[in-house]
Amino acid sequence: MGNSHEKRTWNVSFETKCQGMNLNIQDKYHAISFPIYQTATFSHTGLGESSGFDYTRQSNPTRQQLEAILARLENGRGALAFSSGMAAIAVLFEIFKPGDHVIVDADLYGGSVRIFDKVCRKNGMSFTTADLSTENVEKYITGDTKAVYLETPTNPMMHVTDIEKLSKITKEKGILLIVDNTFLSPYFQNPLDLGADIVVHSGTKYIGGHHDTIGGFLVVNDEELEEKLRYLSNTIGAAMAPFDSWLMLRGIRTLAVRMERAEKNAGAIAEFLNKSPYVKKVLYPGLPDHPGHGIMKKQARGFGAMISFEVRSAEHVRSILKNAELFYFAESLGGTETLITYPLTQTHAEVPEELREKNGINDRLLRLSVGIEGEEDLIKELDRLLKLAEEETR
Ligand SMILES: *Cc1c(COP(=O)(O)O)cnc(C)c1O
Repeated sequence: MGNSHEKRTWNVSFETKCQGMNLNIQDKYHAISFPIYQTATFSHTGLGESSGFDYTRQSNPTRQQLEAILARLENGRGALAFSSGMAAIAVLFEIFKPGDHVIVDADLYGGSVRIFDKVCRKNGMSFTTADLSTENVEKYITGDTKAVYLETPTNPMMHVTDIEKLSKITKEKGILLIVDNTFLSPYFQNPLDLGADIVVHSGTKYIGGHHDTIGGFLVVNDEELEEKLRYLSNTIGAAMAPFDSWLMLRGIRTLAVRMERAEKNAGAIAEFLNKSPYVKKVLYPGLPDHPGHGIMKKQARGFGAMISFEVRSAEHVRSILKNAELFYFAESLGGTETLITYPLTQTHAEVPEELREKNGINDRLLRLSVGIEGEEDLIKELDRLLKLAEEETR
């Protein structure tokens, strides 16, 4: 194996790209597992000479390897790795200046709402919140509008936005389209291919995939934008550490098979919940009657493994969370084990109450991040919990 296989490996399947073959241009000993360059700094052989690496805040071989793979997985020109999803978003929003206006989707990760409200506004930016899955964004665009920011499907209400349709408008108006692709991972959806300008990921979720580390990514196609973001990342000091980069590389190796399995489990669970007399509503875009089902079929290769569902009462919620044995009551998502989350008090506690009510994040809503366990086990456990909740609250 030489070092000049770049072109030959570009047109391979997603599963193959996950293995990172022939990207390994750094390791002179041909290690199969890319080494962790656990170093803060790099020495020089003389004045004006550099191995290509000077200081790890700026760049590091392990992180660079990870960024190269992630760019490939998202069909982007370049990717940047950060210490968390929020660090990625924080650095991204430094490209804006006081007076700039951004249109954001009404249903977003709570931490994103918080940074826009508490940090970006303080820095002189303004925001308009809209339901991008149904509303026409054009009426909100002003002379100061610089970007539209969304997740699809959304967290936790599973609204689906047509990325390609929206990108036609943002391109015409000369503004950026930013898509947080955390929920589907690059395995199921590639927003850049649909016309988005910037992809955001919380690598903590599916990309890392094991609930064992925190990380985030930005992926772009534009060289100038990439350079600007690299400059900001180095200046702010938000880049991913070498060991975390290695954990992400390791997680990515099984990304395709994990996503495949988790989605299969999620489909079966959504169907089960949909039939349960104890469940009032199931939000999963894989169900044929979900309003976003058709758009998802067009723009994504799968429906993901996140399910929100509404039970009969807050007492039912309490019982389910107390009695769950086969999956964990915890925030986060995207790991191999199933998690159950209560958006009202966990992921979306930061969202202003008025917006939460409007979005339907009520005291009966639960969210499942379906893992890769045995399908039958998960369904049996849900069946037990729903019946027990009914008994306990009778
Ligand atoms: C978790 C999450 C984030 C934030 O990422 P961290 O890694 O927790 O900082 C952003 N967007 C979405 C959709 C998330 O689920």
